[in-house]
Amino acid sequence: MSRVPIVAGNWKMHGSRAGGIRLAEGIRLGFADGIFPDLVLCPPSVYLDCLSETLRESNIGLAAQDLSEQESAGAFTGELHGSMLVDVGCRYVIVGHSERRLLFGESDGLVAHKFATAQACGLIPILCIGEKLEEREEGITKRVLARQLGAVIERCGADAMKEAVIAYEPVWAIGTGRTASPELAQETHAFLRSHLTAMDATLANSMRLLYGGSVKPDNAAALFSCPDVDGGLIGGASLNASDFLAIAAAYPDNK
Ligand code: PEP
Repeated sequence: MSRVPIVAGNWKMHGSRAGGIRLAEGIRLGFADGIFPDLVLCPPSVYLDCLSETLRESNIGLAAQDLSEQESAGAFTGELHGSMLVDVGCRYVIVGHSERRLLFGESDGLVAHKFATAQACGLIPILCIGEKLEEREEGITKRVLARQLGAVIERCGADAMKEAVIAYEPVWAIGTGRTASPELAQETHAFLRSHLTAMDATLANSMRLLYGGSVKPDNAAALFSCPDVDGGLIGGASLNASDFLAIAAAYPDNK
């Protein structure tokens, strides 16, 4: 198995400084017992700096939930440059989460620009892609995923995907409790891998494809047992240390 699995927890806009430290501390202590996947925490940006301190002696990575597409720092009130995220200890950054695409109008082009800026700053982008319910019902899921992926590849080149992680997150499964079945997740991940294989076979084999959308302790094992699922991006369940650790522990060690 050459792809090191990742289980990442997206805390979204939840929590407090004290609560975040408690949660990260609980995960750090539980993780010390030896769980196989790489763990990554994605707290609100304002807490990255203090959590970097909490996680200093651990192998748990930190990710920001978003970054500015601007290539240089400057007069962009409210924005965060990738170099600032690196400065406070981030190794990863989420780009193109469906909430950013849908609630903040982020286009495929803007997501590709953010992806490029993240890599230029030395961050590993966790690129989120996924179809809306009406797109799945219309039978255009593959076309939507290819378009979202294509925008990044067109801007950054297929090679850039080697230093990235893809998270397939069907929009209808995020925060709804309606997770994709393992069969559907596997079918979609296999499509993504074969789509990448058409560009570069070595890239496709090493590419880490995470599944996200209502992953919980009771469905994680079935999803993670799918051959093309290399981990998960976890929202709601990452706000509870024991649930998040149970999900990570559900990753099969013989895969
Ligand atoms: C997410 O926010 O990326 C996510 C997958 O959320 P949830 O696990 O709550 O569906």
